[in-house]
Amino acid sequence: MYDLIIIGMGISGISAAIYAKRANLKVLMIESSAPGGTLNKITNVENYPGISSVSGPDFAFNLFTKVQELEIEYKIEEVTDIITDSKTIKTKNNVYQAKNILIATGRRPKLLGLDKEEALLGRGISTCALCDGALYKNKEVAVIGGGSSALAESIHLSKLVKKVYLIHRREEFRGEDTLVEEVKNTNNIELILNNEIKELKEENNILSGLVLKDGKELNVSALFIYIGFMPNTSFIENSDIKLDKGYIIVDKDGETNIAGIYATGDVTKKDTYQLINAASEGALASIKISETI
Ligand code: NAP
Repeated sequence: MYDLIIIGMGISGISAAIYAKRANLKVLMIESSAPGGTLNKITNVENYPGISSVSGPDFAFNLFTKVQELEIEYKIEEVTDIITDSKTIKTKNNVYQAKNILIATGRRPKLLGLDKEEALLGRGISTCALCDGALYKNKEVAVIGGGSSALAESIHLSKLVKKVYLIHRREEFRGEDTLVEEVKNTNNIELILNNEIKELKEENNILSGLVLKDGKELNVSALFIYIGFMPNTSFIENSDIKLDKGYIIVDKDGETNIAGIYATGDVTKKDTYQLINAASEGALASIKISETI
């Protein structure tokens, strides 16, 4: 029996684990893939206090180092189910029980829903400029989206490839002003505004171009999709934990409608999705939990 089981080893889950371990709680973390979560796909973090600039994977590595330093127990397994009344967590091969559960499973990138899109993922379509950008040196690529992710990753790609077409469905971007300025001042980023992608073109199962809503064709070698995210909550869809469009509803302490079950970070319904919020929400929930033990 653990005092706290944390599902998800992103910045929110790890922040919660640090506070829980230092409060002497018996804590277990469960993660289905690489510790660090979304950080592993972010090029640069430049808005976190105390850090001038750090690559996402380096930040993720530092977080994981802290888990190891504090000897926090963790398992790499996929959670398939939570039985809320007994606070039981099921994975493919194991069953765990805790007095409290914290869900910090984050979000995954949304796709456009176009024909052939899923088949072309990894074959010219990508949701990670950091992972795949270097494959398109001296080539033309497109990015779609109008938030901070699309802007920041366009800037990153502009340093690697010949040209970036940034396609956005509105006149104005919703991302940070400093990023908008930088994009506008980058010579090899061409803005395509008030437009959308109508069709994906392929040759031999590799992306060969895009057809836009206005009929224009772009012969790009890659398309990077940054149009927002979907919460990772499929494993609790059939539970009695309250969701709103898949996001977990929590109170100010991060507690869900079920006592002893918490959620923090990008998997929750909220207004602002930033690393700094995710970290502080994890820490706060952990402090609250340790007061009840
Ligand atoms: P986001 O802010 O939700 O922006 C998604 C963008 O994709 C919007 O511009 C949206 O258009 C567009 N979009 C959505 N569905 C679309 C579709 N089907 N076709 C075409 N375009 C579509 O997502 P994000 O940029 O990934 O940012 C997520 C969060 O992370 C935000 O809170 C952001 O501030 C934060 N973030 C911060 C930084 C930073 O450096 N500070 C960097 C990255 C992310 P509309 O505008 O028309 O809705």
